[in-house]
Amino acid sequence: MGDRQEKSVVFPACLWYAVLNEKSKAAIIRRIGGANSTLPNTMKKGFVYLVGAGPGRADLITVRGAEVLGAADCVIYDKLANPALLQFARKDAEIIHVPKRISEGSCTQDEINKVLAEKALAGKTVVRLKGGDPCIFGRVAEELAVLIEAGVDFEIVPGVTAAVAVSSYTGIMLTDRQYSSQVTFVTGREAPGKQDTNIDWEVLAKFPGTIVFYMGMGTLDSTARSLIDNGKPADTPAAVISNATFPTQRVVRAPLERINETCEQQKIKPPAIVVIGAAAASDTRFDWFTKRPLFGRTIVMTRGAAGNADFAAKIVRRGGNPLEFDTIRIKPLTDSNDFLRILAKIGQYDWVIFTSGNGVTTFFDALEKLGKDARVFGSSKIAAIGGSTAERLSEFGIKADFVPGIFTSRELGKQLVGFTNLRNKKILLSRSELASNELVEILAGAGAEVDNISVYTAIAAKSESAWLADGIGEGTIDWLTFASPSSVDGFFEQIGTEAVNPGKVKVASIGPVTSERLKELGVTVDVTAKEHTLDGLLDAIEEAENKK
Ligand code: SAH
Repeated sequence: MGDRQEKSVVFPACLWYAVLNEKSKAAIIRRIGGANSTLPNTMKKGFVYLVGAGPGRADLITVRGAEVLGAADCVIYDKLANPALLQFARKDAEIIHVPKRISEGSCTQDEINKVLAEKALAGKTVVRLKGGDPCIFGRVAEELAVLIEAGVDFEIVPGVTAAVAVSSYTGIMLTDRQYSSQVTFVTGREAPGKQDTNIDWEVLAKFPGTIVFYMGMGTLDSTARSLIDNGKPADTPAAVISNATFPTQRVVRAPLERINETCEQQKIKPPAIVVIGAAAASDTRFDWFTKRPLFGRTIVMTRGAAGNADFAAKIVRRGGNPLEFDTIRIKPLTDSNDFLRILAKIGQYDWVIFTSGNGVTTFFDALEKLGKDARVFGSSKIAAIGGSTAERLSEFGIKADFVPGIFTSRELGKQLVGFTNLRNKKILLSRSELASNELVEILAGAGAEVDNISVYTAIAAKSESAWLADGIGEGTIDWLTFASPSSVDGFFEQIGTEAVNPGKVKVASIGPVTSERLKELGVTVDVTAKEHTLDGLLDAIEEAENKK
């Protein structure tokens, strides 16, 4: 379940709830071809992209959707579009939220149309982000009419519509050559004030394929009754899928006559799709998503924002729901004479060693500010402490010459000593101010001349903590994870240990040093990772979950 099999995807995996840092965001846009390069030159007079945001998880947007999002001056999004998608938008883009509900205090369609036209006429490139596909129950025609009237050019970017996503994420096939050769999409909520219903219940009751209802939760009871009254067998299979593609996805199956009461009993809330017909009874072994090892588990990450992004991607891949609680912030220390002095002679080192992704990013950020690039290394060889550090180096065009098999400073030292003769070799360690001396001692012990440059330090970050304490109290949070002693300190400076003890939430630690720090504070550690990496940490959580 680790990273390896997903290496070749275009997107970084962190696209769900986690927040990406600026560098990763820029890297995504670069990787997918540069949004600005493909914009039509009508842009100057304003242009609107009506973009399908997909059904939920952010990486189900299309490549084109992400691309134009990165070019927008203004993004208008509604409640079904995942706000995590805004990470694709430019930092200076204007973000307008238009929660369209049937209640007071939210926007009417007219108001949305007005904003859309106004922004475009002001010469802006506007992205109107709509849940699912813009043209399926999306009232897109009304928005287009306003744009045409105003003389604004537009493009429609399709999206994965909810019914289709539901099908993939549950294995409920909407079509099947054995039992369903047709499928129909029906709205459970028609335009208010419309005289005649467009839904012909008699025809629908006879429809021999799969019937899919959007917006059908409020009317589920009457829908089921209308179909049965018009001749649909009461035991026709039905299924309701809520929050599809999210870690909160729920699937309820029951015969048509009992589907509404079953949903009520199980407290199923919109957004949900209703599927009626033989498809709804499909093989439950096709349901891969809810079988992910950490599906439905809410896991709190307590690293800095940059580290959390990587970690969130790993949690999502295992089906879990990552929540961010920042405890540390990376503070660069590259604004120093020491750094400039080392940089001036960096090409003279035989080896330059990076021990963390943060170290790499801080180093290259500083290089960029100084108008320099990777050529400063000259013929120096480069070592990375682990896969993710090596990966970060590769984002800056560097292929590490050496990456140890086991990812600790001690192993890096020991394995480098075994890999090459270090006698009289000049080595530079580029790392955190807080790093221990162990690596220096091992390398010096092998006869190397070692210099150390602190490129960053970790300082405590303050987060809003009420939601977390409440979540723990309500039992909606399953795990707290700690990946360093400094994140333990940062966390418990903000949240009292009494909020966690005894046994209110499970605690996972990346290794013995971190566990020790937790124990010193009187916190019970439920699991300590055997392999001291984020994957090892998640393996330990999985193992504990399996034992239950
Ligand atoms: N244009 C959208 C549909 C808008 S109507 C699309 O193509 O998907 C809103 C309805 O879509 C909701 O009432 C619900 O029926 C469905 N829906 C949207 N997102 C969903 C999700 N993540 N899970 C289940 N149903 C969803």
